[in-house]
Amino acid sequence: MSSVTIPPPECMLRPLEVPFRYLFGPGPSNVPPRVLAAGGRGIIGHMHPEMYEIMNDIKKGIQYAFQTQNNMTIAMSGSGHAAMECAVFNTVEPGESVLVAVNGIWGERVAEIAERMGANVHIMVKAPGGVFSNEEIEKALAKHKPVLFFLTHGESSAGLAHPVDGIGDLCRKHNTLFLVDAVASLGASPIFMDQQNIDILYTGSQKALNAPPGTAPISFNERACQKMFNRKTKPVSYLFDMAHLSNYWGNDGQPARLSFGPISGLLCLSHQYLVFVFPQGLEESWRHHREVAGYLWKGLEDMGLKLFIQNKDLRLPSVTTIAIPEGYNWREMLQYIMKHHNMEMTGGLGPSTGMVSVRGMLKF
Ligand code: PMP
Repeated sequence: MSSVTIPPPECMLRPLEVPFRYLFGPGPSNVPPRVLAAGGRGIIGHMHPEMYEIMNDIKKGIQYAFQTQNNMTIAMSGSGHAAMECAVFNTVEPGESVLVAVNGIWGERVAEIAERMGANVHIMVKAPGGVFSNEEIEKALAKHKPVLFFLTHGESSAGLAHPVDGIGDLCRKHNTLFLVDAVASLGASPIFMDQQNIDILYTGSQKALNAPPGTAPISFNERACQKMFNRKTKPVSYLFDMAHLSNYWGNDGQPARLSFGPISGLLCLSHQYLVFVFPQGLEESWRHHREVAGYLWKGLEDMGLKLFIQNKDLRLPSVTTIAIPEGYNWREMLQYIMKHHNMEMTGGLGPSTGMVSVRGMLKF
């Protein structure tokens, strides 16, 4: 009798096919061939000195992209969600108060993550794309006395670039850590971690950074480190525990570095690549996104379409949202575009589902 009772599936005999698509949803984005090739250069051990060098370079690239001098800067294994969980799991302990600004799906998601780990979650809610004033935020900080306040910089489900200025100062005044999600905006819309007093900032590799999904840059400043390394309880996740991750990335000053991670993903996100993404620097990248987005917005409006975010200054340059025209079925439209133009666009997400159609941006 054969020891194998389950035959190999027929699909294993078929060659892998990955069709080319224009990825115009809010991520993943198309990845330039040069970046894809970086991931295929080979595998080395995650604890080889060359890998540590590459990780050190990636750290410098992230510090530049985030405009921060924070030592506690790493790229996590996982997509943007991994960084979201890492930020919350490490800085909050069960029972502590957390304040979340919800104006689209990402605030909802962070509120759920914080709830699941036993935090006492308070939400400030606006319709998708709504903007919270600094006065509203300060009132809520004073009322709920949170250890952490979360805001999405690039709310991709609504196409909003939320202003950030002044909020970090308010958080300091109220002894709260300021956590910002820049998954959809980093590299496309200006953000200055140190100058804006952002305590924790994260992004994802597969949006404006144009790398494959699977690595998520995140940075913690000194205030955040004070909180997360003086906890009474251990973070609920072993994988995302910054006590370990800081050692893997050589941030804890210990000579022994134990490491694991997605080698190929890190090669794609390597220092050379981060530099390649901003060939003429961050400012040029922001300018380029703004210019191309402006061209797109005008073209869409000339066609008679309405953009979901009316105030141009609040539109996210990397993700444009179009209000669904009256009488049209958004699912059918997106299917038509995919079938006839090979382009992926997506509907809204969470509270904006059926209100907008999202188109991300291609950047090579
Ligand atoms: N935050 C924002 C603002 C996003 O746009 C996304 C993904 N679209 C995420 C978080 C989650 O990132 P990921 O899909 O890489 O897990």
